[in-house]
Formats: sequence, structure tokens, C-alpha cells
Amino acid sequence: MPQDRRTRSRTAPRGSGSPSALRRANTERVLRHLRSSGASTQADLARATGLSPATVSNLVRSLVDDGRVATGTTTASGRRATQVTLVPQAGRQVALGIDVGRRHVRVVVATESGEVVGESAHELPAGHRASECLQVVADLVSEVRVAADHAGHRLVGAGLGIPGPVDVRTGLVGHGAILPEWVGLPVAETFAERLGMPVHVDNDATLGALAEARWGAYKGVQDLVYVKVASGVGSGLVLGGRVHRGHLGMTGEIGHLPVAAYGQVCRCGNRGCLETVASVPSMLAALGVSAGRLPRTSELISLVQAGDPAALRVLEDAGAALGQVCGGLCNVINPAVIAVGGPLTAVGEALLPSIRHGLSRATTPAVAEATVLTLTTLGDRTEALGAAALAHSAD
Ligand SMILES: [Zn+2]
Repeated sequence: MPQDRRTRSRTAPRGSGSPSALRRANTERVLRHLRSSGASTQADLARATGLSPATVSNLVRSLVDDGRVATGTTTASGRRATQVTLVPQAGRQVALGIDVGRRHVRVVVATESGEVVGESAHELPAGHRASECLQVVADLVSEVRVAADHAGHRLVGAGLGIPGPVDVRTGLVGHGAILPEWVGLPVAETFAERLGMPVHVDNDATLGALAEARWGAYKGVQDLVYVKVASGVGSGLVLGGRVHRGHLGMTGEIGHLPVAAYGQVCRCGNRGCLETVASVPSMLAALGVSAGRLPRTSELISLVQAGDPAALRVLEDAGAALGQVCGGLCNVINPAVIAVGGPLTAVGEALLPSIRHGLSRATTPAVAEATVLTLTTLGDRTEALGAAALAHSAD
């Protein structure tokens, strides 16, 4: 695949400024060096990673406590030194989580506790064919498997999230998918055959809810809604601690709930659906009226951060509509947490007040007050992690 289009896994994802994220990143640097170079002295680790000897010593102590590395005494340049060796993690089960979007695919390898031990991502052209995506996924999977195998992990299978409904009776992608080219494809069989392992498929927003409930900041919560705002708008539901898939597996399709009686005509043929106001393409189109051309998602994010009035207005209108629909969901299922994911979470907390306001207007004060509204707590890996969680559950 062309290297220039590849967006490799970022070693410093959003939130990397926090002390815990920095510590994680530094720990990963130490582990990476040990994986590639074998046993090393603490002084070697400090030289190789550019970290201070005190930081390395501190990280190594935590890794010893976690059973990830062992230390011993050796002699280097005639002096006693602490040698650090990786403890093989044999028997650690890992699963692949594959998240396919309209324009991207991301693959993570995650342990049963949600620790990411491998990751890679790639951009896809809009309107890509399933076969094209399959090739990219196969390449990414073989790439991340090398590291997982090297570390002695045992792969139990793969989960795959797609932005569309999956009919649980047939395993086929249903109509209304953001990937119309995929409709009617037996996704699980096609991917399983190509990857040579069991593949479990589900809607990406459903997997987002699973990831948040299992591994997110509110893990263990019994009733949670994950709202994905991207090329389309969808939601996933965890009710009573379990993923709710409904009769056909087609739940949470909130993108086509009507929010504006005389709004835009929607791709579904109805008028004024939530997606016509709150999907990323509809926000870009609305902003394009003011900008005189169609902006990119990254521009919308920059404009919001810069306080551009038109961008803020578009975001507020989208938030109000999302909030209205979330309020309706609250009235029906009374979730404890609503987590919002998708590319616009890059604008940060500024995304939430208009949703909160819309929600308050559409549900009772007691429910509005008690519902936690948050940005996804797993960054841009949420759906991929949910896919890995699905594969772990299916083992
Ligand atoms: Zn619609």
C-alpha cells in the first residue's frame, strides 16, 4: 500500500499532555526498546529512549511490579549495572479490533483488560469497495500481528465494526449503511476467510457503547448510550449491563429521527432527519454556505476552536438537535451515561453545552440532571476497542 497515505498509529494520541498519558507513552518506549533489542541495562534504556536515568528507573520499578519485566545484576564497562529483561507474556489473550469508516480503517490489538498492545490505521478513499478495504485490513492485520506474536500473545479472533446496520439473522449489512457499496455483503464470512480467523461483526456505534461500558472511564455502568457523530449519526445501547441489539440487531438508528419539520431532505428520502443537521457532512455543507466552498472536517474543528461565529452556530444547531434526540432517549431508557464520539470530539468540551441544553429541553429536570454527558473516554480508538471487546466476549 502507498506509504504516503498511511496514517500510522500515533504514539501521542489526544490527551497525551496528561501525566498519565505521558507515563504510558514513556513506558511504551521502554518496552519497545526491550522488544526490539532484548535485555538491556537501565543506562542503555535511558540512552535509547532519551529518558532520564531516574525516569527509566521509576518506569522499570512499575513494570517489575506489573510482572512485565524482570531485573538482575550485570556488569557493564566494569561496573555493576541493572539489567532489564522482558517477562514473556505467554498465555495473554489478545483480540483484534477492526473499525471501518467511510474514509478510514483502524486496527488495534487489545488484551482482555483493554490494554492496546498493537495499533495501526490507514485512510481509505470515499466510496471504497469492500474488496479494497479487505486488502488494507489484511495488510494492517499482518503488520500488527508480528508485534503481538513477537510478544508471545495468543490471538483469539477479530471483531469488526462497520458504520451501518448488521442484520443479526443473516449477518448481512443492511440498507442505510454509510457504506452503500457494502450492502448485502456477508461481511463476517468474507473477512474470516481472508484473515484466517473468526470475525464477529457489529454496528460501530454499538461497539462504541460496548467499549465504553467495559473499558471506559465509566466502566461497569449498567445503562449507557454511545452516540457517534460522523458521516452519519448513530447510537449504541448498553442496557442492564448488556449490549442491546433488539429484534434484528438494528437498534440506535437515531440519525433518521425527525428533528426539523421543514428541514433538508435526507439521504433516506424523509425530511428533517437528525443527520441533515448533525452529521459531519451536513455541518460542513452548512458551513460551506458561509465560507463559499465546502470545508474539511479539520477546518471546521479549527474554526470552532478559533471562535468563528458561523462554525459555532453550525455546531450549536447540531448540538441542539443531538440533545433533543438524546433527551428523547433519556425519556425512554434513562441511561446513566451518554458518551459522544466521532471526529468532532477533537473540539473538546465545547461540543457538549449545546447538546446538554437540547437534552434538558427534551427530558424531565430530574433525568437531565442525573444523566452524565461526556465525550468518549477512549479517544479515537473507541469503536476499534469495542470490536476487540466483542471478539473477546465471543471466545
Ligand atoms: Zn433520514
